[in-house]
Amino acid sequence: AAVKRGIVIKDDWPGYSLDLFTYPEHYHSDIENVYIPHGVIMNRIERLARYVMDDFEDTKMTVLCVLKGGYKFCSDLVEYIKTLGRSSNRYLETRVEFIRLKSYLVGKNDQSTEDLHIVGSSDLSFLRGKSVLIVEAIVDTGKTMKALLKYVETFEPKMVKVAGLLVKRVSNMAESLTDYVGFEIPNLFVVGYALDYNEYFRDLNVSPEFAVGAARSVTF
Ligand code: 5GP
Repeated sequence: AAVKRGIVIKDDWPGYSLDLFTYPEHYHSDIENVYIPHGVIMNRIERLARYVMDDFEDTKMTVLCVLKGGYKFCSDLVEYIKTLGRSSNRYLETRVEFIRLKSYLVGKNDQSTEDLHIVGSSDLSFLRGKSVLIVEAIVDTGKTMKALLKYVETFEPKMVKVAGLLVKRVSNMAESLTDYVGFEIPNLFVVGYALDYNEYFRDLNVSPEFAVGAARSVTF
């Protein structure tokens, strides 16, 4: 169970002082601290790639990347899977597909099924019979992932696993939904590494050390 929870960040973890790292100046007043440095994230993702390689017995895998927040995590994870494949004798062929979800503001072009709002095409029939890895940056209440899993299952894939870089410590439910957890974090709002707050902060990863920071202005 400890392995399944990933790296557990305790409630009293204050993060690193901003002064210890370089980061975009315009975010100075909005960011509280550097919560998880980029290097630690990368090291953890490398380990997650290993778990994935061990579990996927097929020679091919379909990666379903949840946009927008998941794009950095997805590209780094797939890169590590490729590297591992080259250095071992088992190359896992990856096909990456994208799905964009919205949990609010459902516009005209959005297609929704129950709690799940899909932006753009909702046809996931390419998943039929495939070994699927869903890649999501953050699982909070687990509501989004639960709905997505239910929807993905309707296309009858061969198997489905979920990778979540960050899982919030809000309930046991989210934990059991996510097969590969990068970090279990307290219930606070984080930004950076492609995770946004109304489109802000996505570029926080531009300076390599700056990965996931706790937002100053938002609390839950
Ligand atoms: P859930 O359905 O699990 O409660 O919410 C998942 C979605 O909420 C994520 O895909 C993400 O878009 C958003 N979210 C939840 N917590 C955070 C957070 O701390 N930071 C950011 N940037 N997004 C979050």
